[in-house]
Amino acid sequence: MRTVIYPGSFDPLTNGHLDIVQRAARLFDRVIVAVAGNEAKQPLFSLAERVDLVRSSTAGMSNVEVDSFGGLLIEYVASRNGHAIIRGLRAVSDFEFEFQLALMNRKLDETVETIFMMPKDTYTFLSSRIVKEIARLGGDVLPFVPACVERALKIRHAQMGKEADVIAG
Ligand code: ADP
Repeated sequence: MRTVIYPGSFDPLTNGHLDIVQRAARLFDRVIVAVAGNEAKQPLFSLAERVDLVRSSTAGMSNVEVDSFGGLLIEYVASRNGHAIIRGLRAVSDFEFEFQLALMNRKLDETVETIFMMPKDTYTFLSSRIVKEIARLGGDVLPFVPACVERALKIRHAQMGKEADVIAG
């Protein structure tokens, strides 16, 4: 049974992430989407919310599991008997950081490979950061994210708007 781990912040999951999950699910017996705690990045959604959104969006994929992890990725991969790590590459701009990360993970455990996958070309411009920015400014994000993520973004921004009103008095 070949297991791959697809780690990330997924704050929130986009159609680009989903595209990578689908590609990986066709190649491997089991794909574990591993949502990173990563509180230092000050995510818009809590870890539990991010896990729920990934879970709802991948519910129809029988060999995809969703989990969360904290600490060293390589230790998490070993704990789940993972054979490889999947990362998405959108453009040259992703390469430098991903290359560093992959080689560092190999130093920590040389038995675990990192595999890079490219999304459908129309998703190469998509990032969680850009989706959050569009949603914050009231734009339509439905072409870029699953419907449950779009709803969650609307609710979060409505809550934040109310909090801002309270602070402003
Ligand atoms: P991280 O905080 O680990 O970068 P992200 O959730 O932003 O987490 O991304 C997780 C992985 O998915 C990374 O390898 C990233 O390059 C990849 N990724 C993000 N957006 C896309 C996209 N639109 N298409 C393909 N891969 C993507």
